[in-house]
Amino acid sequence: YCPSGAITEIDHTQKLDAVMKSKKKLVVVGMAPSARISMSEIFKLAPGSLTTGQCVHLLRLLGFNQVFDVQFAADLTIMEEGTELLHRMNDKENSVLPMFTSCCPGWVNLVEKKYPEIIPHLSSCKSPQQMFGSVIKNYYAKRLNLDPKDIYCVTVMPCTAKKKELDRPQFRNPKTGVKEVDLCLTVREMGRMVAKRGIEFSELEEREFDNPLGFSTGAAQLFASSGGVMEAALRSAYWLQKGVEFPSIEFKPVRSRKGIKESVIDFDGTPLRLAVVSGGKNIHKFLETWGTSSFNYDFIEIMACPDGCIGGGGQPRSNLDINPLRKQVVYQNENKLPSRSSYQNPLVKRLYKDWLKKPYDKVALKYLHTTYEPYKYSDQPQTDENSDKFHKLN
Ligand code: SF4
Repeated sequence: YCPSGAITEIDHTQKLDAVMKSKKKLVVVGMAPSARISMSEIFKLAPGSLTTGQCVHLLRLLGFNQVFDVQFAADLTIMEEGTELLHRMNDKENSVLPMFTSCCPGWVNLVEKKYPEIIPHLSSCKSPQQMFGSVIKNYYAKRLNLDPKDIYCVTVMPCTAKKKELDRPQFRNPKTGVKEVDLCLTVREMGRMVAKRGIEFSELEEREFDNPLGFSTGAAQLFASSGGVMEAALRSAYWLQKGVEFPSIEFKPVRSRKGIKESVIDFDGTPLRLAVVSGGKNIHKFLETWGTSSFNYDFIEIMACPDGCIGGGGQPRSNLDINPLRKQVVYQNENKLPSRSSYQNPLVKRLYKDWLKKPYDKVALKYLHTTYEPYKYSDQPQTDENSDKFHKLN
């Protein structure tokens, strides 16, 4: 069951080939947290292998001019979402709790279609994909002295719903119509591109991401798995509130494979009631008590796919129960990274210094936050090719 209705990908690799061949645009790409774990499966390597450096090399060979890390944008998401949570906790008169995460477009679509009363509770943060695109088109373009329309921004995602997300009107420049993200490829589509070119993935040497969007922390890697956004947000929200590290940096209650996980933590003297939910059936079950007094939480992470993005609709298919292996690699890799909390990311700090100034402040609210609205079933399909096809599918 796919709550977004985005049950299959539409192959856009020809569109990308045409843009690359024309050489009229700078073509940049960003790789999602879970793609570096699942890509190896396409090439028949051991399931659950981390191949970050090989994926970067592969993307360069495919012709991308710059290869960036969407995990950088996941760190940025956490700085904004952690600050928003504190804002909601400290200003109860003007804001509402619980706050729901908003980084999963499958979940956001479900809210707009079936649970519009939840809209005020959704974090206003854009997803990492859209924060990535916004930084590319609004900050990086200026740094390079380029018109945003001369940059073609591509993402590699585990997700079919992300293809539809980039077409939301909120994610276009209102004056020029330029999209933040131009194209989203699933991991499976990437595999097809590589097969066409005859590249031998297992023989590729490791390469590094490009900067200024090429460094990320362990917290950002956690986005690949259900419970990861919650754990990452708690680490940085605690630091933002107290100025010291969250006492249990590995927050085990959200790491199991249960579809609905609940926990209460002491957050600077205040009990914070948490829930983490993944998978369509679990979401509906969890929301059965929504609006009643027994629905009693402060912060809720919801991901539409079972186990989160590691189980996404754009991932390589397998007859094995492969998510536990993928999940294991998420936590092993997270543990090895030099920084584990988003507030420690030096490039994110630099971005605030140079451009955004403060989290959840004027510039950040303009470029990194968004709005939602109840879905209107009578809406005409958008003229964009993606939207047309998705509306037909739906
Ligand atoms: Fe996409 Fe699924 Fe991840 Fe949501 S949980 S962002 S629908 S892959």
